[in-house]
Amino acid sequence: MFRNNLRTKTAIVFISIALISIVIVSITTNILIINSFGNYVTKSTDKEFSNIANTLAAVYKSEGGWKSTTGREIGHAAMMEGYGLRLRDKDGKIIWDFSSMSYMMNMMGKWNKKNISEKTLPIIVDEKTVGYVDIIYYGPIMMSDLDFKFLCDISRYNVIATVIAIFIALTISIYVSNYITRPLINITEVAKKLEKGDFTAKVYDIPKEDELFKLTAAINHLGESLKNQEILRKQMTSDIAHELRTPLTTLQSHIEAMLDGIWEPTHERLKSLNEEVLRLINIVKDLETLNKFESDMLKLNKIKFDASELVKSILTNFEASFAEKEQEVVKNIEDNIMLFGDKDRIAQVFVNLISNSNKYTPVGGKIKIDFYKDGDYAVFVIEDNGMGISKDDIPFIFERFYRGEKSRNRETGGSGIGLSIAKAIVLAHGGEISVESEINKGSKFTVKIPL
Ligand code: ADP
Repeated sequence: MFRNNLRTKTAIVFISIALISIVIVSITTNILIINSFGNYVTKSTDKEFSNIANTLAAVYKSEGGWKSTTGREIGHAAMMEGYGLRLRDKDGKIIWDFSSMSYMMNMMGKWNKKNISEKTLPIIVDEKTVGYVDIIYYGPIMMSDLDFKFLCDISRYNVIATVIAIFIALTISIYVSNYITRPLINITEVAKKLEKGDFTAKVYDIPKEDELFKLTAAINHLGESLKNQEILRKQMTSDIAHELRTPLTTLQSHIEAMLDGIWEPTHERLKSLNEEVLRLINIVKDLETLNKFESDMLKLNKIKFDASELVKSILTNFEASFAEKEQEVVKNIEDNIMLFGDKDRIAQVFVNLISNSNKYTPVGGKIKIDFYKDGDYAVFVIEDNGMGISKDDIPFIFERFYRGEKSRNRETGGSGIGLSIAKAIVLAHGGEISVESEINKGSKFTVKIPL
């Protein structure tokens, strides 16, 4: 009958807990009220009973014996109040009897033969028993009509309160179980869409509760990264095709021209074709590096190492390249900066940046390199007065295959992958990479890596 789902189950659990508590509370209050009310009534009736016996004794005394009229009005009044009296003399002979009349009066109403109680009290005058009065009443204790009405009212209010409480409990239970399960239902729907390849799916209704918030954030993050990967994958394929097509077409048309005898296969021409092939090989090599890095991005081989020494040794390796272009290099390397990270990959970042500065700064230019500690970060800054990057290019230079306008047609330009590799490595270490540059004035790259 019930579907086997969390919403129904939580609702059933809440409702059951609420119902059980309500029933327990209402039963105990009912018992408590009836008991304490019963005690009160018993005490007051005991007093009333001895009053009846005392009054009858007084009447007996003043009339000097039992007549058929003695104390009748007392019996009558009792009958009006809902209980019966029977007066007997000391031998047990009935003088008058209002009990059957009371019984008759109440037959229609609340009285029920089974619940009739009877109590007999002696009537004592001058320490001698002169007769007996039987008190006949309904129930285990004697209650007047008012008492009875009071009890009925209490029971009725108890029932009304219980019904209201059950209604409130039902409403709250359904609300709470819906509230808890709604985010899960939303997340399931989004997960189903992601499974079908709709990576734009997202949970918009973010719950405030910590656990549900984290779960929602995780699924949204998953969707986001699947979407990005999808975009990257498509972009990558078209980029690769584009990058390879141009040099291949050039090669093909040049070779064809030579085969057709239009062009002499001179040394110069073959050398230029060879350079083009080398460029292609370089592109493929870069792609391999990037792919390798991105496919096992999470597998950083982290160790603790002296980053200051690393920077210094890389700079030594570049001395020849700087000398070749007669570039002035200013170094400020703070000693003993220890980093915990993938040493080879971080080296690759520094190499890429230094190589770019060397490449894009003309003969006789100036390059300044700073490496220092700033708070919780190791900061690497490389500044050159080279060709700079145009405002339009800056947002894209960290993208794969993107080459600045000026370097696009130059032999010196690489494949446009270096900075994307550098950025991927820095991000994987929880760091940041940024650039400030002005065309024809120079560029400044800053890398921050957490210590
Ligand atoms: P590339 O292999 O072309 O150097 P990168 O990803 O390393 O690829 O750099 C992307 C582009 O950013 C370069 O083509 C170049 O236009 C620009 N660039 C990078 N570093 C510098 C620099 N120091 N000065 C001027 N331009 C730079």
